[in-house]
Amino acid sequence: MQASENTNDDFLFIDDSDEEEIFDEGNGETWKVLIVDDDPEIHSVTQLALSDLIVLDRRLEYLHAYSGQDACQLIEDNTDIVLVLLDVVMETDDAGLNVVKHIRETLGRQDIRIVLRTGQPGYAPEESVIKDYDINDYKTKTELTRRKLVTTVYAAIRSYQQIYSVNQNRQGLENIISSAAELLELRSVQDYAQGVLKEFTQLFGDGQEVSGIFCARGHGIIDSVDDLSFYIIGQVGLSSVLVNQKLDKLANQQANQQISICFQDKKNYFSANSISLYLTSGGYRAALYFEVNSELSDINKQLIEVFLTNIAIGYENVHLFQKLSNAAYKDWLTELPNRLEFVNILNDFSQSGSDDTVAALIDLNHFSDINDGLGQEVGNQLLVSVAKRLGQLSDECQLARVGADVFGIIGPSECINPNKILSLFNLPLDAGEQKLPTNVCIGFCTKEHAGSGGVKVLNQINIALNLAKKALDEHFIYYRQEMEDETLWRLGMIRQLRTDFSENRLELWYQPQLSLATGKVIGAEALLRWRTADGKFISPAVFIPLAEYSGLIIEIGDWVINQACVQINTLEAHGFGHVGISVNVSIPQFRRSNFVESIIQATQVHQVEPSKLELEITENILMDDPQVVIDSLVKLKSQGISIALDDFGTGYSSLSYLQKLPLDRLKVDRSFVTDINKEGKSLIAQTIINLGKQMNLKVIAEGIEEIEQQERLIELGCDEVQGFYYSKPIPADEFLIFLENNK
Ligand code: C2E
Ligand code: MG
Ligand code: MG
Repeated sequence: MQASENTNDDFLFIDDSDEEEIFDEGNGETWKVLIVDDDPEIHSVTQLALSDLIVLDRRLEYLHAYSGQDACQLIEDNTDIVLVLLDVVMETDDAGLNVVKHIRETLGRQDIRIVLRTGQPGYAPEESVIKDYDINDYKTKTELTRRKLVTTVYAAIRSYQQIYSVNQNRQGLENIISSAAELLELRSVQDYAQGVLKEFTQLFGDGQEVSGIFCARGHGIIDSVDDLSFYIIGQVGLSSVLVNQKLDKLANQQANQQISICFQDKKNYFSANSISLYLTSGGYRAALYFEVNSELSDINKQLIEVFLTNIAIGYENVHLFQKLSNAAYKDWLTELPNRLEFVNILNDFSQSGSDDTVAALIDLNHFSDINDGLGQEVGNQLLVSVAKRLGQLSDECQLARVGADVFGIIGPSECINPNKILSLFNLPLDAGEQKLPTNVCIGFCTKEHAGSGGVKVLNQINIALNLAKKALDEHFIYYRQEMEDETLWRLGMIRQLRTDFSENRLELWYQPQLSLATGKVIGAEALLRWRTADGKFISPAVFIPLAEYSGLIIEIGDWVINQACVQINTLEAHGFGHVGISVNVSIPQFRRSNFVESIIQATQVHQVEPSKLELEITENILMDDPQVVIDSLVKLKSQGISIALDDFGTGYSSLSYLQKLPLDRLKVDRSFVTDINKEGKSLIAQTIINLGKQMNLKVIAEGIEEIEQQERLIELGCDEVQGFYYSKPIPADEFLIFLENNK
């Protein structure tokens, strides 16, 4: 220190203060002030002058440096220094200014306040230095009366405090922006709620344990909740068991009250022990409730408001996202998971379901009739009723609507079994004003037989369901691997049949029919033969059901009729004009709208006498839609075409319907002929023959293999016969030879 500098020391710190109000009790915390001066006396005088000063509730605490170098070190070591009272001239003329540079440039500390003091005006730094280095004040020591010093220090510390808050705010805002961005990534309301609580705790929890909840009305957020009560969507510091439960579950009256008030007033509330916040965007509303130890600072309150504004859009987003995913994964009518979601459920089942779990598909019988007959509205109401009925099974079951009239269900075998499910449909279902009796078919798949992956399992249950729909006795089937093998086999066969049919590998063979009275051939049954490319024959008993199943029977059937007509003409050309041909007709052919016309047309195109063509139908044809079949047959009959009832006695039809059929012949099935000579085994054949006689019909017996059977049939009064005893089915040219030999 230079001698000249001390000349005005007497002026230092003359007590002229009357601002007693700033000398007050502190709160225990301090502001650290660094006094830098090479004159030890200045240190003590300064300290004395500022003793008892309280700034913003805190006392001052002093650190002392006697050179610029010491000062730099101390500032580095004590990051909480808020103010430096700095002598300009110390070991060098600009030692003080070097300290300033060190603080601002080297340490990058813009917050520390600096008051420069110098003994003489001549040592004053240039104005640009004061501006560039953000110096709070520059005073010659003569200017610094005690009052001025106090005021200067007071102002500097206040300014430090402001800078500090702005920095804090900036940091807080940055955190808020980044946490809001993170929240925007979330996709479910629950995840979002949990995320908000986590961010809130990090931003405002001050490192302490926080407990709080995120509440909203459950409808639309929690599955199967349709009331308007408040539900806990997320929690922090409490228990995860509370999540997705009603708010009442949290036995906390204050929380309940605060949340209601928050919703009512649409406002945030801060108190000494709780915070309740209102969150809203796009009509979606939620409230947060936290318990705290002390009231938050104003800055934090403001930041919370900013936080809420920033995250609100995220809340709307997760709702919209949930709606979208609901649309993708939920059935709009029943609000049940849809097919896509059921596949996900089955996926879990195939991977981790318990061994006792069973999955099923339940198909409503004749639902389209209800839809067509009573209208779609009634149909919809029925579906909702079915969903409710199935929902009664057990809380452990998961239900879905996987198709228009197909429901999926999965659960423990004690609930998901034929008895339990079928008994649900014992009573009729409500559909608006009506009560409708409803039957179902069910396909099941147990965990043991489930393949891997949801799509695979759905396919398996579907296979079982399709078989159940076709089964005549029981209305449910459990999936087995063999079924799938069979399906694959069936698909392969159908493909091959289609190709072979288009490549003319189907042939029509003929089995002679003879009159028992004359022993002469009176006709023949046309029977399909399929010879594959490798020369193998595949039995019609195998491929006809496949052709029926695939619909291919319609084209094949057309071909057969035309082929039979050609054959009738060939026979006539060879002098066998009296020999008619019988053709077998399947159910799908009748379902075709122009079936009758197609047959009449064939007889016309080939110029065939209609009575020479006979159609063989089975009783089962009547099961489908008896009146349509009867009407068609009546029309055909009126054109002169002959009708025979094949396999009589083996089907399901009722006699009352049979009476309405315009028949010409009854065919006694082979099964009643085989043992006809055994004691008591001819009764059915006899009954059929008598029935035929009473109805004025010709009766022909099939499957005669032995002469004894023929003799017994003569005794019983049967008219005609067909069987291996006379001839197996034979190709057209061989049939002509047979006729020649039988003349
Ligand atoms: P179906 O109409 O009852 O034909 C009689 C079946 O009994 C024929 O079998 C015939 O070969 C067989 N059969 C005749 N006499 C005897 C006998 O003495 N002993 C034995 N064991 N069997 C005898 P196939 O040709 O295998 O035909 C089986 C079934 O396939 C037919 O039963 C018929 O329902 C169906 N089918 C054959 N061709 C056609 C067709 O063109 N259209 C339709 N829709 N079905 C056909
Ligand atoms: Mg037949
Ligand atoms: Mg038959």
